[in-house]
Amino acid sequence: MRVVLLGPPGAGKGTQAERLVNQVDAPHISTGDLFRSHLRDGTPLGLQARKYMDAGELVPDEVTISMVQDRLGAESGDRFILDGFPRNPHQARALDALLTTRGSRLDGVVEFNVPELVLVERLLARGRSDDNVQVIRRRLQVYRRETAALLEYYGDLVVSIDAVGAVADITERVVDALRATHEP
Ligand code: AMP
Repeated sequence: MRVVLLGPPGAGKGTQAERLVNQVDAPHISTGDLFRSHLRDGTPLGLQARKYMDAGELVPDEVTISMVQDRLGAESGDRFILDGFPRNPHQARALDALLTTRGSRLDGVVEFNVPELVLVERLLARGRSDDNVQVIRRRLQVYRRETAALLEYYGDLVVSIDAVGAVADITERVVDALRATHEP
């Protein structure tokens, strides 16, 4: 199982990924979580990422891609649930290249569909430090401007789900979507 969860901030990718690791044997790799943990530990990478995260901008690709390379390289198996990466076509090409060198490839992409009003409500309720109205607006813009292009990039690999509703119901939809993408 090698999948990418794709969707705007607040779509519930992280919540669902946490629930999926209990059902499928694959680690959850969230670039946002990795950056936040670097930030907490005060590493140079964390300090470098901070100003972008605070502003709701993407951390530069070379920093992000090398962090993901390290993280995937530390994995013994060839499975993952990627959450928050890739965020633009350049990152997607880097992921493809990385997988190709390992003789592997993506099984699929699950797109989380949520109306923007619901996203803003959820993000404001979550209350992370980058969850204020101004930064939320910027992150949604960045999603539309850079990340949404991945739908076209991944084409037939994408299975879209309605990600509004009860958490458990959405998990079922994700599992169904994974079944549709997964080729053993
Ligand atoms: P997230 O937890 O996915 O909402 O990410 C929080 C913040 O981390 C984002 O607003 C970006 O500043 C940064 N970030 C996370 N993933 C990426 C990525 N793939 N590329 C660039 N920046 C990222």
